[in-house]
Amino acid sequence: MELSTQLAARFEKLQTAYPFKRSALIPMLMYAQDEYGSVSDEMIAEIARRLDLNNVQVEETLAYYSMLHRKPMGKFHVQVCTNVACMLRGGNDILERAKKRLEIGHKEVTEDGVFSLEEVECIGACTGAPAMQVNYDFYENLTALKFDRIIKELDGGRVPPPEPVTAGALHAREPGETPLISRRWGIKDSRKIDVYLEHDGYKALEKALKEMTPESIIDEVKKSSLRGRGGAGFPTGMKWSFVPKDSPKPKYLICNADESEPGTCKDRPLMEMDPHQLIEGMIIAGRSFGAHRGFIYVRGEYRYVLDIVEAAVVEAYAHGYLGKDILGSGFDFDILTHTGAGAYECGEESALMESLEGKRGYPRIKPPFPAVVGLYGCPTIINNVETLSSVPAIILEGGENYAKRGTPKNGGTRLLCVAGHIAKPGIYEIPLGMNMKKFIYEMAGGIPGGKKLKAVIPGGSSCPILSAEEIDIAMDYDSVAKAGSMLGSGGMVVMDETTCMVDMARRIMHFYAHESCGWCIPCREGTSWLKKMLDRFHAGYGRNEDIDIVGELAKNMLGRTFCPLGDAAALPTISIVQKWRNEFEDHLNGKCAYKSAEALVGSR
Ligand code: SF4
Repeated sequence: MELSTQLAARFEKLQTAYPFKRSALIPMLMYAQDEYGSVSDEMIAEIARRLDLNNVQVEETLAYYSMLHRKPMGKFHVQVCTNVACMLRGGNDILERAKKRLEIGHKEVTEDGVFSLEEVECIGACTGAPAMQVNYDFYENLTALKFDRIIKELDGGRVPPPEPVTAGALHAREPGETPLISRRWGIKDSRKIDVYLEHDGYKALEKALKEMTPESIIDEVKKSSLRGRGGAGFPTGMKWSFVPKDSPKPKYLICNADESEPGTCKDRPLMEMDPHQLIEGMIIAGRSFGAHRGFIYVRGEYRYVLDIVEAAVVEAYAHGYLGKDILGSGFDFDILTHTGAGAYECGEESALMESLEGKRGYPRIKPPFPAVVGLYGCPTIINNVETLSSVPAIILEGGENYAKRGTPKNGGTRLLCVAGHIAKPGIYEIPLGMNMKKFIYEMAGGIPGGKKLKAVIPGGSSCPILSAEEIDIAMDYDSVAKAGSMLGSGGMVVMDETTCMVDMARRIMHFYAHESCGWCIPCREGTSWLKKMLDRFHAGYGRNEDIDIVGELAKNMLGRTFCPLGDAAALPTISIVQKWRNEFEDHLNGKCAYKSAEALVGSR
């Protein structure tokens, strides 16, 4: 197959970029699709030939990823998010508007091939909800009028300027915020290396390479009480210390930038506005456990962010911060950026490694754990963007000082995205341990329109939901766990008194049913059954006995699946059935008093 010069050059680079060729599969499919609009039989054969695979291996991998298409989409692929944060601010109305305006349905293409439409899961723009993507461009804070304006311009052949920075990320600093890893946000050209160097950039690396040993780096991170910011909250220094020192195999570091937990959108601005902080954190982490190679796995939807991170990696090589003998220390470290292709499941560390190896993102059975048997069967550490971005600050100010910003065993600051029914949606950097109620009412402006608070998802849609009476708690991993939920990935979604909790349970379950990889029966069948039952309730056809069945079915999924997605689907459902049973009963009587604030859009 004849390829354009540009695509052929990209393919050739990718074919030799990884230790094993197959790892290039998903990026090659994505770049091919970008050029041709879909992946044809011919392209499958071409990629298979280049990677020494057969066509079936390419095709079965392709079929797993939601962003890859076998049939062409429109020139402008309009993807409207209706997940929880967008739903609460009118995402469903935007979708209906799109269907009417474009005269097509979900995954359909207009006759002239200009537009296609897709209802999508969380795109990582929760603080700017309701949001959509057109191809890779983000448009946030949509109203019916704004949507129409964007479509009109596209129809006329002009692409309106996208909104590259998550709309809420650059809010004015609030008293009580402690900008540390977000302190360069808003500085002009903060993503450029010259600006980074003017603001303490790469000083921590210099210290780590010239004044510290690998062991003392790990000790410092242990002293900081830094816990993984991706969701699990595992102590980072301890994780790094699990890598066997005497392994003869290469060791790898992976940055998990596959942020896709609904409600969470803070890794996007972190990479967009401060990519060098992440790169610096990765080099220091690599040095601590003997890795010489790092990968940054960026979710497919964040293509422009991938471009920014790639440009920063190039700058870091040019300035001698990556590559051989960094700063004359004798330490070598390389970073390769990598694109995903749309699969929530790839945020789970073992599924991510499978995906990075060019396969479907199915989780692996543990043990063995990645620190011992990870990428390509070698010792591997996987950390989230925010976790790795916190490392330079820890090295510069010392682990103990960093820890003092938080509470015991919960060191430092963390980024919190707050979305939904909140006066000041945005991304805030707060010291761990801040009171949740105080945060919602004082820092984030409380509930708009004089309405009462009903419920809070504290850290992404997989967390048990807290009622308004349960939020007078410290926001650290242990205190939120004591209150029966999780701090998770820092994606807080606030719901006011108008929210229908049956609708919320239904929407959350739709997401997990869509994202289940189908490997284990309790997850595959459980999410699908629960989705059907919750749809039936919401439509007013539930039965009294179904309320208990929903709760029991969800409980039966707990702890019975290979990866945490089964629990993630079950936990919020159980909490809704326990705390808002009356709303299920109301639906039995055919009345739903709530409108889920869909009227927001129509009123603008
Ligand atoms: Fe797949 Fe769900 Fe099982 Fe995870 S829990 S491995 S997503 S089927």
